[in-house]
Amino acid sequence: MNNIHQSIEHIKPVTEAIFYGICGLAMTRDLLVKLACGLKTCGEKGKINEYKQNYQLELVDKVMIEDTKGLENIIKRSEQGEFKEWGTGLKAHVYKNTCIITEILDSKIAEKNKIVKKRTWNGTLFDNNKLNEYDGTIHFHPNHFTKYLAAIDYNIGIEDRGTAKINSINLITFNTSNGIEVIAHNKKYMYIPKNRNDKSILIKADHNQILEYLS
Ligand SMILES: [Zn+2]
Repeated sequence: MNNIHQSIEHIKPVTEAIFYGICGLAMTRDLLVKLACGLKTCGEKGKINEYKQNYQLELVDKVMIEDTKGLENIIKRSEQGEFKEWGTGLKAHVYKNTCIITEILDSKIAEKNKIVKKRTWNGTLFDNNKLNEYDGTIHFHPNHFTKYLAAIDYNIGIEDRGTAKINSINLITFNTSNGIEVIAHNKKYMYIPKNRNDKSILIKADHNQILEYLS
């Protein structure tokens, strides 16, 4: 009995060391990914400022979702509150400072066609080659921790901007206690619905406007 107890005592520090080691590695990896994304975005912003004519999707004032059925589909799937993220591609063009989203691919088809390679509780991995024919992505943020703190989701993550392709428009959907929200972003800006009840028109928003929208 004593021997077993001693063995367990012996194993415990080893197990703990392995556990903390894995946690440490995961955190280091996470920090490195954040750092890489931050640096990448910083460089891309410089390019956008220098060659504005090549990056029109990065500079729009407004986003209009013309594909009503596609918008309905992403809202419906968001309402299901899945545990894992999901995503899809979208097609868009610029007309007079407005980004017009003309097509939102069905998210189930995006999975079937492996445009979405992997879904986890905090990430959506897209196949970048297959995304070449799209002008941006949509992904869903599950609310594991933010059910009652919806404002947190308004902060677009470093990874969200870093992994988005340059000259694209990207949507993020998430649940709040007031229902589904849809926001848009590119490398530089963020867009929120002009009207709370209509997610098809999104306008560029600064920090104060976002807070006002949330209040
Ligand atoms: Zn995200």
